Amino acid sequence: SADRKFFVGGNWKMNGTIESGKKLVETIKSAKLDSNVEVVVAPPALHLLPVQEALKGTQIQVAGQNAYHQVSGAFTGEVSVSQLQDANIPWVIIGHSERRTLFGETDANVAEKTKAALKHDISVILCVGETLEQREKNESINVVVRQLDAVKKEVDDWTKIVIAYEPVWAIGTGKVATPEQAEEVHAAIYDWAVKNLGQGATDKLRVIYGGSVAGKNCKELASKPSILGFLVGGASLKPEFVDIINSKL
Ligand code: PEP
Repeated sequence: SADRKFFVGGNWKMNGTIESGKKLVETIKSAKLDSNVEVVVAPPALHLLPVQEALKGTQIQVAGQNAYHQVSGAFTGEVSVSQLQDANIPWVIIGHSERRTLFGETDANVAEKTKAALKHDISVILCVGETLEQREKNESINVVVRQLDAVKKEVDDWTKIVIAYEPVWAIGTGKVATPEQAEEVHAAIYDWAVKNLGQGATDKLRVIYGGSVAGKNCKELASKPSILGFLVGGASLKPEFVDIINSKL
């Protein structure tokens, strides 16, 4: 349905220069993109504005890769949700596994940041997912539910949230989840949503998959009924990002 437009995000992580970001934008702009897909790229904070400027007039929006929940103050090195709002940045990624693992973000931090972003009218790509150890113990769904419950405690309205299921073992490893593995967790997330957000909100909710998505595996993943898009890291820096955007064609 129109409410569930296929969504493709590109997480550039801490890569590139202002110039290479603009070049990448030119590559994407010169390609023919499926107009039924919502596309959001997340450059490094310093590159958000020039990339947004370069994307003017296209269907592609930008996202921060992280934001701090406080509006302003003595938080050296952070960028606040209200600063993103002031710069007209429409999206932010919250709870990426690299933030959780390398920078110590807890479920409670992720909930707090999500709440703050929404309060400042910024849509959220909310990342959840289990580690390899947790998958091997059959805990994938429990972990994801725990991560979602933490946000639900702080946030009632999920209409501006896209949930990215990103198994940690699949991120940046070249080890993509099988379509069946991803579909199983996505279906569990939709079950969680029906119980916790209601059927109406669930009908509008997009759960997207992330973890070694590439041109060569995107179509099979996209054919699964509960996979409503992708969050792409490595391949979002390459021309094949266009093929991923066009997965449904
Ligand atoms: C990511 O960083 O969100 C990601 C999915 O990375 P990659 O596509 O490189 O696995």
